[in-house]
Amino acid sequence: MSNKKIYLAACLMIMVIILGLPSLALIQQSSLEEGQSPEQQLRQGPGQGLGQRFGQQASQPLPTQNFFNFLFSPKLITMLIIAAVALFLLLTGKMDNRTRIPFLVIATFLYGVSANLGLKFFSGFSMHPSPICAFTKPLLYGLRAPMLATLAVILFLSLVGPKLFCSYVCPVGAIQELLARLADKLKIRRRRPSFRLSQTFRVSIFLAFIALSWTAIIHTVNQGQTRALSLYDYLNAFEGFKWNLQPTLLDNLFHFLPLLLTLGFAFFVYRPYCYFVCPVGLFTNIIEQMAVFRVVKKKDSCNDCQACAAKAPCPAVAQILKEAVMVPDCFACTICTKGCRRGLLRFGVKDKTKG
Ligand code: SF4
Ligand code: SF4
Repeated sequence: MSNKKIYLAACLMIMVIILGLPSLALIQQSSLEEGQSPEQQLRQGPGQGLGQRFGQQASQPLPTQNFFNFLFSPKLITMLIIAAVALFLLLTGKMDNRTRIPFLVIATFLYGVSANLGLKFFSGFSMHPSPICAFTKPLLYGLRAPMLATLAVILFLSLVGPKLFCSYVCPVGAIQELLARLADKLKIRRRRPSFRLSQTFRVSIFLAFIALSWTAIIHTVNQGQTRALSLYDYLNAFEGFKWNLQPTLLDNLFHFLPLLLTLGFAFFVYRPYCYFVCPVGLFTNIIEQMAVFRVVKKKDSCNDCQACAAKAPCPAVAQILKEAVMVPDCFACTICTKGCRRGLLRFGVKDKTKG
């Protein structure tokens, strides 16, 4: 298939998916009967998640915003704009280590820190729903517009690629990347665990989340109602960006520890949270295999010297060179593309016509 056809097919697929997601939210909203309390609606409505199949009840209220209100919120719109600028710079070869740092600082500040400042200007940048909540809570509590809108943006940016959500707008990803740069400056030697190991970890956590949610082994009982808890509630590094102190020391530990551990490990392992824990990373790693834009090599001219792979912080380059079907997560750091002295790696459309 030619590049043009691949591009058109991918655009069509992206449009179908993005248009499909709001219709899920609209179906759910239209099914809600007037006069019912949110709890009644949750018990009876479609899209109930694993946590509710056992007669459990969610305590969260339904969102007042509809899908499109949330999609056009300052947070998601600015994410799309920042990612578009980043993509332009990647495709024109103007993104490099230095150009990337302002993007990472902006993502950390805007989507991680700003909502804590209590300024009205940043009120539209609240962490809720965090990417992890957007991905996992629908499985527990059914479809909600804010979750679906967040998922739509993650999906869209991952399909356009190269993993644009994780690479350029996720605050947990951005701060890990900044710490990796700092570690490089400090000449701290990072380990590069095998992708098989990190993927096994990430998949195992996700499977455990599904199993525990299904059986409600992890749960709370509130006013006689059993409510399933997500395993990710204990592993969610995004929560550490909510600077509200918890009632007890133990609660604070659960709240801040995942982010603090992530920050500590980020000096020694490249993006440890993304590769080892994050379910969004798992999801976007599958999606990025179909992305329109990604790191591609000029096949016929590569002499397989591996100079790019040696410089890369990630486990992806060796697989990109082999043109493997399943490539580890690429966070569009540009190190490999700049690392090939002959310029044989670049961001672009994968050409499937060549042998
Ligand atoms: S894998 Fe998760 S933590 Fe990492 S950048 Fe993506 S969403 Fe953020
Ligand atoms: S080194 Fe290359 S393959 Fe690895 S994350 Fe950076 S751009 Fe992606």
